[in-house]
Amino acid sequence: MSYRYDLHTHSRCSDGKLTPTALVDLAAANGVDVLAVTDHDTVAGVAEAMQAADGRMQIISGIEFSALWRGYNIHIVGLKIDIHSPGLINAIKQQQSSRLSRARTIAERLEKSGIVGAWEGAQHYADGPSIGRPHFAQYLVDSAYVSSFAEAFSRYLGAGKVGDVKQLWPAIETVIAWIRDSQGLAVLAHPDKYDMTRTKLYTLLDDFVEAGGEAIELVSGNQTPPVTEKLLRAANHFRLYGRYSRKKVYLDYV
Ligand code: MN
Repeated sequence: MSYRYDLHTHSRCSDGKLTPTALVDLAAANGVDVLAVTDHDTVAGVAEAMQAADGRMQIISGIEFSALWRGYNIHIVGLKIDIHSPGLINAIKQQQSSRLSRARTIAERLEKSGIVGAWEGAQHYADGPSIGRPHFAQYLVDSAYVSSFAEAFSRYLGAGKVGDVKQLWPAIETVIAWIRDSQGLAVLAHPDKYDMTRTKLYTLLDDFVEAGGEAIELVSGNQTPPVTEKLLRAANHFRLYGRYSRKKVYLDYV
């Protein structure tokens, strides 16, 4: 029997559009057997997802942390974490307060450039403290400051624009330690999204593996087969779990 997996999803607890329950329903409608809920800097949606699954699928407790590596904003997913581990709870608090102060700065800057109610507006789309640029973008669209998400980024939130507020994320070593200390598996998220040369990506993977990272995300979003093959070669080179496909990650760790 073959299983269907989605090991990287977001709910409204961070920047997803669906409640954890609606996310599980959507996954069920698409035949998913194993679903990891991996919200940014929070595990608030995991319990609801587990309850909503109600035997229809297995839920893996997860999280996605942001980290900094040589100036790149790197995302690291933790799978099968113990959501009650005190170290994890502290790490989450630290990331959330850092994220919140960045969001406040974004809001202040947007308001100064004429966007009325940016803070309240963005909050309206975020259930928890994980407010980020997508929430501001949604507010800009819905209050007709721009006509699309893309325009929200090209005019206000993208690189070099008024809402482009840099954030000092922790080093990848710190984030991997948080995940491992809470019994989780550290996965390098969407490795192709960092716009790196092969050499740069392999240097990142050297450091990632050295710090205890164990897997990479082989497939994410709309990805072409050559990209998947490139990531598969990287996974093989570093003997990461990704080389066995998502299924093997499941078989080894669940
Ligand atoms: Mn991500």
